[in-house]
Order: sequence, then structure tokens, then C-alpha cells
Amino acid sequence: MYNAGASRTSGAHRSCQKDPVPHRDLPHPRLEIDRQRAEFADAAVEDRFNRHHLPERSAQLKISLLFCAAFYVAFGATDVATLGPTTTAGVMIALRVLVALIAGAGLLAITRRPESVRVAVLAACNVEIVGLAVFMVLCWYQPAAMTWNVMSQALILMAIYVNIPNRFIYAVWIACGSSAVFCVMLFVQGSLRMDDQVALVLLLMLGNTLGYIGARRFHLAQREQFRSAILLEQLADRDPLTGCFNRRVLQRGLLDAELARARRYGTALSVILCDIDHFKRINDTHGHAAGDHVLHEFGGLLLAMTRETVDSVVRYGGEEFLMVLPETDLDGAHALAERIRHAFGSTGSAVELGQFVTATASFGIAAVPALDPDAPDRPDMLVEAADAQLYAAKRGGRNCVRGVAVTAAPVRSTA
Ligand code: GH3
Ligand code: MG
Ligand code: MG
Repeated sequence: MYNAGASRTSGAHRSCQKDPVPHRDLPHPRLEIDRQRAEFADAAVEDRFNRHHLPERSAQLKISLLFCAAFYVAFGATDVATLGPTTTAGVMIALRVLVALIAGAGLLAITRRPESVRVAVLAACNVEIVGLAVFMVLCWYQPAAMTWNVMSQALILMAIYVNIPNRFIYAVWIACGSSAVFCVMLFVQGSLRMDDQVALVLLLMLGNTLGYIGARRFHLAQREQFRSAILLEQLADRDPLTGCFNRRVLQRGLLDAELARARRYGTALSVILCDIDHFKRINDTHGHAAGDHVLHEFGGLLLAMTRETVDSVVRYGGEEFLMVLPETDLDGAHALAERIRHAFGSTGSAVELGQFVTATASFGIAAVPALDPDAPDRPDMLVEAADAQLYAAKRGGRNCVRGVAVTAAPVRSTA
């Protein structure tokens, strides 16, 4: 299980002897925003952003769909008023009902699949594309009302850019594409004077430009706010001296979640509590700054020797750290603790010019075995068991590892 860890161990060990321990980069996602697309450059972050905003956007989309259905059908009255009770007017009303049906189908889909970002985007795109296509047909058959219809198109553009929640890039394509078709229709139909045609084309261009600027600003502002929230959360979760997590992540349920996962899938889970030996002496002999430096190096070593994105290293107290190791049994955790103990004990920390401090650490392990029907259900049971093992390691002379399998069945210890 620890093959990957073993190679990382030797890497970290090599670098320990030359330079200070390199800290694992903080696990921050790539948070750059692609300003042209007004989306996060990293698809995973964009997906996280969309999921975060989905409930609010779905609520807004539902209102937009209802609004769209109601207005399309209500404006059928103008078809009858312009064309009289003719077959053409009947076809137009049927087309308007079609838009209302598409909006209704979208409403149904997002109500049934409230967790799907894709369904919400699809519902928005469908109603926009079908609504605009129908609108073009309606305009084609009512050349006398062309000036009014261009103004309606400008208002529809605002709805597409601002009111109907959709991906920015899709809104731009749909709004610009439909406007281009509209302009072609104006000229092909030729029912207006040339200067009116030019004025109306300019009006549509203005509508698109204002909509583009406003929507882009909105999409970017939302993402910048989301990015600040993520960065703040990361800052709040990390101990600045060592780069390890602080206890807030435990309070937020890190260990509860890992234990629940281990119980559900029958996987092993280990925690290691470790503590630097006689640390007070380092402070007393070399000063607090030197003590800080040793702590920084120890934290870096723990981060470098555990699996990035799988294991978690928490600064539990002053010079005490808790490692949470999913899918790791007692033997695996013991082997890892031994590697860390050896790497730390055999490497000095440069505290002053040419002066090195060597320290050791003690380790207590508590492990939930894989496929254990009697696995504990409270995370504090694990921490308490690891603490008892750490205490045993301290009493046993320090600079050693003690571990126990935590289960209702007879326990197995390692020493
Ligand atoms: P033991 O082997 O039994 O663990 O002995 P110890 O001296 O390591 O343990 P003790 O609990 O007596 O002392 C821990 C010291 O760690 C006391 C405290 O001042 C120091 N300490 C806690 N946090 C920090 C820190 O952030 N920086 C520094 N430099 N020292 C710290
Ligand atoms: Mg100590
Ligand atoms: Mg301590």
C-alpha cells in the first residue's frame, strides 16, 4: 500500500539532508478565471462554482421560464389583432404555444433533476433557441410591425444576457446569432427605408454590446467572489507556521467523514498522533525562534511523507500532530510512522549559522481494520486510542512507535 509513500519517503529524506524540508504545496485548486469566457479556467473549479450556485440559479430559471411561457402566449393577441382570425394567425399562436411547452418541459426537467447543472443549462438554451426561432418566424409574417419587433428583439437580448441564467458563452452565441439572422431578415424583407434599417441594426448592436458588457461583468464578479471565499477558507484551515491543517478541519468533521466512509465501504483507516520529544528543551536551549523552525521542518516532513490529497496532517496542539490516513491498516501506518521517525531523528534542523538541532519524535497509532463489523463509530475513540499509544511510547523511552487496532474484537498492538 505504501509503495508510493516509500518512494516519496526516500525523496523527502534526500532533500532533508541538503535543504530545509520542502513543504507540500497547499492543496489549492487552480483558481484562475478565463476572462474571455467568464469562467474558471479549471473545469473542476467551474463545476464546483456551478454546483454551489445551482439552487439559486434554478429558482431564477424557473421564474424566467414561467415568465417566458406566459408572455409568448399573451402576445398571441397581437397576432390576431394584426392579421385577423386567419390561418396564419392560428399557426403563429400554435408556435407560441410550442415555446410555452418547451419552457414547461424545461421547468419539469429542472424540478425532477434539481442536482444537475447540465439539465439547467439545457433548459435555458432550449427555451432561448426555440423562442428566438419562433420570434423570427412571427416577425417574417408581420413586416408592418418590424420596428416594434426590433425593439422586442432588443428586450429579448437583455433577457438572454441578464435574466435567464446560462453559461456566458452560450448566451453570447445565442444573442449574437439571433441578432445576425434578424439583420439579414430586415434587409431581405426590405419593408423599411434604408436609414431605418441601419438605425435598427445599430440598435441591435447596441443591445448586444450592453448585454455582453453587463453579463460578463456579472459572471466575472460572481467568480471573483467565489475565489475569495475559497482562498479565505484555505487560509482559515491552515496553520501558518507548519502549513498543516489546523483543528478547525477536525471540528468541521474531517475524521467523522473518513470514519463513516471506512465503515460504509469496509476499508481500513488509521490515525497517528505524534509529538516531538523534549521540545521544551529546544526552546529553552536555542530560543523560541529555533523551536519554531524545528516545528516548521517537522510539519513539512509530515506533509512530504504522506499522500497528497488522500492523507490529512493536522497540527493538533503545540508540537503535536494528527495524521489521518484513509485506506491504511495498522501495519501500513506503523511502517509510515517508522519512516518518519527515522527521517526526523536522523536529520538536523539548521537553527543558526552552522548550528544544527537534532530532535526525535514519538508516535501513537490507532487503526480501524478493513471489513471490521465492529469498527468504532465515534472518531474521538480513535483519537483517544492514539493518544494512549503516544503516552505509552513516551513512557517507553520516547523516539518510538506504538499502535493498536481499535475494534470491539480482541485488540492487536504493535510495538
Ligand atoms: P515530551 O517529550 O514529554 O513531549 O516533552 P516536551 O518538552 O516536548 O513537552 P512539553 O509539553 O513539556 O512542552 C511542549 C513545549 O512546546 C512547551 C511550549 O512552550 C512549546 N510550544 C508549543 N507551541 C509552540 C510553538 O508554536 N512554537 C514554539 N517554539 N514552541 C511551542
Ligand atoms: Mg513533546
Ligand atoms: Mg506535547
